[in-house]
Amino acid sequence: MIKYSIDQEPIISVGLVLPSDKQKVLFIIDSKNKKSYKIKCQNNNLYVNDVLVDFFELKNEDNQDIFSVNDIPAGRGFHWKKSIAIKVKGSLKVTVIVNSLFLTNYIPIESYLMCVATSEMSGKCPIPLLESQTIAARSWLLAAVEKKHQNLGLDVCNDDCCQRYQGINQLTQSAINASKNTRGNVLFSDTEICDTRYSKSCGGFSENNQNVWKTPSKTYLQGLYDNQNEKMYNLEDEDSFIQWIKSPPSAFCNNQNIDEKELKYYLGTVDEKASYFRWRFNFSQVEITKIINKKMGLNCENILSIIPIKRGVSGRIIKLEIIASSKNKVIEFLLNSEYEIRRVLHTDFLYSSAFIVETTIIDNPIPTNFILRGAGWGHGVGLCQIGALGMALKGKKTNEILSHYFSSTELKKIYD
Ligand SMILES: [Zn+2]
Ligand SMILES: [Zn+2]
Repeated sequence: MIKYSIDQEPIISVGLVLPSDKQKVLFIIDSKNKKSYKIKCQNNNLYVNDVLVDFFELKNEDNQDIFSVNDIPAGRGFHWKKSIAIKVKGSLKVTVIVNSLFLTNYIPIESYLMCVATSEMSGKCPIPLLESQTIAARSWLLAAVEKKHQNLGLDVCNDDCCQRYQGINQLTQSAINASKNTRGNVLFSDTEICDTRYSKSCGGFSENNQNVWKTPSKTYLQGLYDNQNEKMYNLEDEDSFIQWIKSPPSAFCNNQNIDEKELKYYLGTVDEKASYFRWRFNFSQVEITKIINKKMGLNCENILSIIPIKRGVSGRIIKLEIIASSKNKVIEFLLNSEYEIRRVLHTDFLYSSAFIVETTIIDNPIPTNFILRGAGWGHGVGLCQIGALGMALKGKKTNEILSHYFSSTELKKIYD
């Protein structure tokens, strides 16, 4: 894992296939040496081309070789989950943990970051967007606050859980330049490397970190209006938030600034659905009851009401009450985080918890439909990727984008 005293480019460990994926088979091709490996896990043993081994390693001393790996999970737990083939630099190591394959990619951080830029967004994005994305990705990684996979000895996984990394598949010259131009540059708040979070679309207003992760509040991760004029909104208030959803503001991430067709061009290949700034889901009573029962392990007959109890500064619901009927009794339960709310109210995962609930009631008290009208995609803390794209398209520079989303921070170079 990354060492803290950094004066030269660190090598990081990225989990490509995790034990929790329960994967049994992998194919790796080393095209330079014209070799291919079928890697299999059976009865807690590892086989490479049908030969039993303790572990398998492909070294890449000068980082010039490229390995192709098939069947890498992407979008775990989200609506876009799929298995992809990727090409990677760095070295590879495979072991078996609890009867599953575990594949790690050891790679110099700058080679990793140029791939993150074009996996998170498309390599066709304007340079200031790619540079901002790269600096945010580098700072987040080196701040190492989350350490979600510490138990596996990994710095990060390859997915949205950490940062999206799909090898060199979509790499472009501008992404390579974005890494070169910003090499070793990270954002600091006082003496601390910033935990620079980002998400796809804030919906017009970003969220406070403490409302999403219940972590100590960070000055540079407090919610703000995603525009340069400092208009005030009180989106914690239900009526103001309803107004906000129904008459969207002219934020940088507003689709008035970036046409949704254009957005597809800039977003890359994984995210194919198009509505992020304002969206709507219409669930019938039968559908919503089925989803909630499945996600909560309940057996309710009807959902009677879905009530926002507490909203964060972006309007994201952080406490939600659900009232349902079960065995002819009325039951109530609370969902206490934006993550849990998004997990429970969609077959996969709801775009964001910044939504209002409208119901159609014909036969009181059981609504026939629940319509969720929402804003944004993701947790909404820190940099808004679509907003940053909007800023770059308006001609804003990298430092203007970073200081807009991460206020009172300073850019410093920590290795050459
Ligand atoms: Zn992860
Ligand atoms: Zn935004």
